[in-house]
Amino acid sequence: MDRLIVSVSGVRGTVGGTLTAAVATDFGCAFGSMLGAGSKVVLGRDSRPSGAMIKNAVTAGLLSCGVDVVDLGVVTTPGAALMTRLLEADGGVIITASHNPHPYNGIKFLQPSGVALPATQANELKEIWQSGKFATQAGLAVGRESVNSRTHPMHIDAVCAVTDVTGVAARRFKVVLDSINGAGCVVTPMLLSKLGCEVVHINGRPDGMFAHTPEPIEENLADLCDAVRKHRADIGFAQDPDADRLVVVDEAGRFIGEEYTLALAAAFVLSHRKGPLATNLCTSRMIDDLAESAGCEVFRTPTGEANVVEAMLANGCIFGGEGNGGVIEPRVVPVRDSLVGMAMILQYASETGKKLSELAADIPSYHLVKTKLPCPLEAAAEVISLAREEFAKNPEAKFNDADGLRIDLADGWINVRASNTEPIMRIFAEAPQLAQAQALVGRVRKIADKVIG
Ligand code: MG
Repeated sequence: MDRLIVSVSGVRGTVGGTLTAAVATDFGCAFGSMLGAGSKVVLGRDSRPSGAMIKNAVTAGLLSCGVDVVDLGVVTTPGAALMTRLLEADGGVIITASHNPHPYNGIKFLQPSGVALPATQANELKEIWQSGKFATQAGLAVGRESVNSRTHPMHIDAVCAVTDVTGVAARRFKVVLDSINGAGCVVTPMLLSKLGCEVVHINGRPDGMFAHTPEPIEENLADLCDAVRKHRADIGFAQDPDADRLVVVDEAGRFIGEEYTLALAAAFVLSHRKGPLATNLCTSRMIDDLAESAGCEVFRTPTGEANVVEAMLANGCIFGGEGNGGVIEPRVVPVRDSLVGMAMILQYASETGKKLSELAADIPSYHLVKTKLPCPLEAAAEVISLAREEFAKNPEAKFNDADGLRIDLADGWINVRASNTEPIMRIFAEAPQLAQAQALVGRVRKIADKVIG
């Protein structure tokens, strides 16, 4: 199924299919009309080859509405968010389809803080786009374009400002980095070198030719695990194409799971400071256990980075993120940032003197099974409603509709929801034992198979 997905997370479609230069220009016009002539927008893109086409099209739309555009070039998503704030822009745009493969690209729109648009503004933008009524300007009133190539050093400075650079550098960590030929290719080794690391870089050409399926999950990271073993490294890091997500491989070359990125970073933060944390409803209970031991509260939100960030800002959270490897340190930038995640985990290893496998083993473990299946958006509601009926048979079941359907049971939980960026359904379940978690997923999977056929 090929359709343009327009959601609170932005626009995503297939390049030359649903996401054409004309569509991208219209979204540029819509965002420009919303902000108004005389505004300033910061624009960055990930390294995928279609990025130049989409960037130029969005830029044309913005300029035509009298908006000035600052082109950051190929930068990470957290880098673009940081620059939106530092350059005091009226908004930001990032051209990326994150972990989606080549056929896809996307456009994300940011507030002046660097955070994605809130739902009300995302809806307003969609309405302007649908209306096709744009506030285009004539002659000298069109916008001006400029280039800014300071994103990488500014980002590194922001991360180092909250990191014990000398302490980490003293350990001379050996790190294997897999940047998937994405937006993290240039800035990440610069940061790791500053942190005194010896870096073995694989997939480090920022040409957007993804060397493996881009989502940073175990099945796609065999080369990284092998390289960690071969080079006898202390740790392996994998980024997604726009470098907001981070996944960690331990010193034995074992993929320890993207949920551990957030848990390890949370353990590090709580070893220094106390305060509330925030994460989404699909993230492992590990963070709750860590927060409880530290006497801190965890706010749970619907899935979507913007929801987590909103809860963080509303509750003065010192840390937050998502179990997909998304670490948010609000003092650097209020979006997921693989670079600050690396700095935190390296500093944690440095301060404790422990290996990655030992740090992971210190955290109470659960089995979180994550599955996804192709599912038309229309069928998702029926699957969710039937799942509710199925689990209503469990007298202890508690239902939460904040994000798809989350069902909490005495010894685990399950979440069933439709993606808002792809025609897929995700079924996650967590329990102390793997077989329990698999059985929970199996109960919903059976329902989904019946509905979808
Ligand atoms: Mg991403």
